[in-house]
Amino acid sequence: MLGRQGAGKGTQCARLSRHYVVPHISTGDMLRGAVKERTAFGRKAKEYMDAGELLPDDVIIGIVEERLDKDDVRRRGFILDGFPRTVPQAVALTEITLPLGVDLVIDLEVPRGMVLQRLAARRVCTDCGANYSVTERPKRPWTCDFCGGDVIQRDDDTEEAINRRLDLYEEQTAPLVQFYADRGELEIVDGVGTAEEVLSRLVAVIDARQQSHRSAP
Ligand SMILES: [Zn+2]
Repeated sequence: MLGRQGAGKGTQCARLSRHYVVPHISTGDMLRGAVKERTAFGRKAKEYMDAGELLPDDVIIGIVEERLDKDDVRRRGFILDGFPRTVPQAVALTEITLPLGVDLVIDLEVPRGMVLQRLAARRVCTDCGANYSVTERPKRPWTCDFCGGDVIQRDDDTEEAINRRLDLYEEQTAPLVQFYADRGELEIVDGVGTAEEVLSRLVAVIDARQQSHRSAP
């Protein structure tokens, strides 16, 4: 699943994971875990994240490859969220998933001005990473509904930092969208609307793709 930060990828991947009973593999969750546990990879990752840079391909490809080798993925497949972000990562993913390959790549499209607003309003649990916003607050003021952690505005959710991340995303991801379009694997799905509306669009696109795979010779 591709899409700008703030397009609702995480929410929709979690819903799709329940709908199709397929593991939702979020690089964000894997990263937070590694940083929290202060593994060698986690410490390395934190240096890049503190500097506001994306992780080098070899580091991120390594952890994704390990994850895709686990039993749940072998049985059920996977929904990848936050990977690939670059063409070299996409090439690596193609190799990792041989011979089956990737069935479908979805670009969840939400206009830049809209995600900028969403991200500036975002508040995040420091412990579990759950997302809130100034309009969708936790039940008790700024205490996470799920884990009781502190809910804050992240330092890098200022408008300037958000714009920088969106620029970086576009620079790296535009060639990626083209890469998948050329392979006939890309579908663009409108990500504007309620979570239910967007989910039903996604399910329609995925079901149609499954149907065409089944009827292929
Ligand atoms: Zn929490």
